[in-house]
Amino acid sequence: MKVYVLTTFSDLGLAEPILRAVTAEGYETPTPIQATVIPAMLAGRDVLGIAQTGTGKTAAFVLPLLDAIARGGRRPAARQCGALILVPTRELAQQVAESVRTYGQFTRHTVAVVVGGAKHGPQIRALARGVDILVATPGRLEDHLSAGVVSLERATTVVLDEADQMLDLGFMPAIRRILGKLPRPRRTMLLSATMPPPIRELARAFQTDPAEIAVTPVSRPVEAIDQSVVHVPSADKRALLADYLRGDAVDRALVFTRTKRGADKVMQHLDKAGVSSAAIHGNKSQGQRERALQAFRSGGVRVLVATDIAARGLDIDGVTHVVNYELPNVPEAYVHRIGRTARAGRSGIAITLCDPTERKLLRDIERLIGRSLAVAANDDATVRAVAAGDHGAARFAPSTMTEAFDDAPESGDDATRREPRSRGPKPVAKRQHRKGPRRQRTKAPSRGQRLDDASPRTGLERMLGNLG
Ligand code: AMP
Repeated sequence: MKVYVLTTFSDLGLAEPILRAVTAEGYETPTPIQATVIPAMLAGRDVLGIAQTGTGKTAAFVLPLLDAIARGGRRPAARQCGALILVPTRELAQQVAESVRTYGQFTRHTVAVVVGGAKHGPQIRALARGVDILVATPGRLEDHLSAGVVSLERATTVVLDEADQMLDLGFMPAIRRILGKLPRPRRTMLLSATMPPPIRELARAFQTDPAEIAVTPVSRPVEAIDQSVVHVPSADKRALLADYLRGDAVDRALVFTRTKRGADKVMQHLDKAGVSSAAIHGNKSQGQRERALQAFRSGGVRVLVATDIAARGLDIDGVTHVVNYELPNVPEAYVHRIGRTARAGRSGIAITLCDPTERKLLRDIERLIGRSLAVAANDDATVRAVAAGDHGAARFAPSTMTEAFDDAPESGDDATRREPRSRGPKPVAKRQHRKGPRRQRTKAPSRGQRLDDASPRTGLERMLGNLG
């Protein structure tokens, strides 16, 4: 049996000490935002993204910074810094610095925190020696800049985290002044929970051809989706899939695989089986992706085979079926996948083909959604009946499973607790206003628990308009 492996941290090209640190943290796979942002940053690109807390965004920008240091980047001279991370609050500054220390535990590096409300002396001393990574709030940084305590002349990267909160707090003029002091060329990364015009304007003024990233919160599956699972050996999946898709009820189906190669293979197999399909994944050019989407949207092909990254944010009318040909490694991806159907008030059908090696992934999904999936027998007749919407053909898994989940948390975090969004202008990454500290981080969540969704987009405007 062929085992396909999801992108790993080493696939991303990170240096060994960084890989060791993420392993020590218990991370198995990069979160979607990490899988997208890290390669872009390693390639020296600017990044513009809508991203909230809980997506793994901190590691997405910290790991590439540490990578450069691990690869023997020059030590900063006195009063210089190599990279600057601007954040709105002291708490966040401390938290980001803590992440730098954690992910940099096997990399020789220096990090300093410069925030208001703290004594100047220790900050001045830390800066005097020069630091690799400086985490700062804008006000105090400006104080130190004008006092000549630190210079940004040799910084190669700047990250603006939670940019819209910095805007709300009135930091925009300071940020513009600070950015004006940074040399070019440099990498500029801008992350924001929302994208109001002043932030877009900032990006236009200070970034060059940024990679654009969208991170959306995970919602719980809509009730209108009939969900079931077929337990099937891996070797039988292809034949079963083709049979399922041949059913008359299948008007427009999205088939998800874990890997790009897997998507291509499924498409080839379907073609041989007489089911015309298109594939969309990260290795396809933008033109190919758009053509595949167009064929699917227009009904030229009834089936689109996709990986998670490529399918993120897709808003296609009339998807009647979602097939999980392979289970996703992170359970939230299941919610995203099946959310591609039952849109705009319609119903939809989602079926998951689960081989014995995927049982644990299935359990993780069932825990996340708080229910067990109905089990359809692994025979063509049942599978076709399920495809036609006859969920009586599937029986519900033993109720003990459901009971076991009664104790399970509602969902991973605020982001995953959102109700399904309706169609129309949607609250993309609408900031959650909280009282008290913006983030309260304890330990890393269990794997995959808070991992949201990222996608490279061709235009931020489109993303704001379309994402669903
Ligand atoms: P952030 O969005 O940066 O606030 O990160 C949210 C949480 O996700 C933090 O507690 C991280 O420790 C955790 N985290 C970050 N990356 C991963 C990963 N690849 N796998 C599992 N957990 C992660």
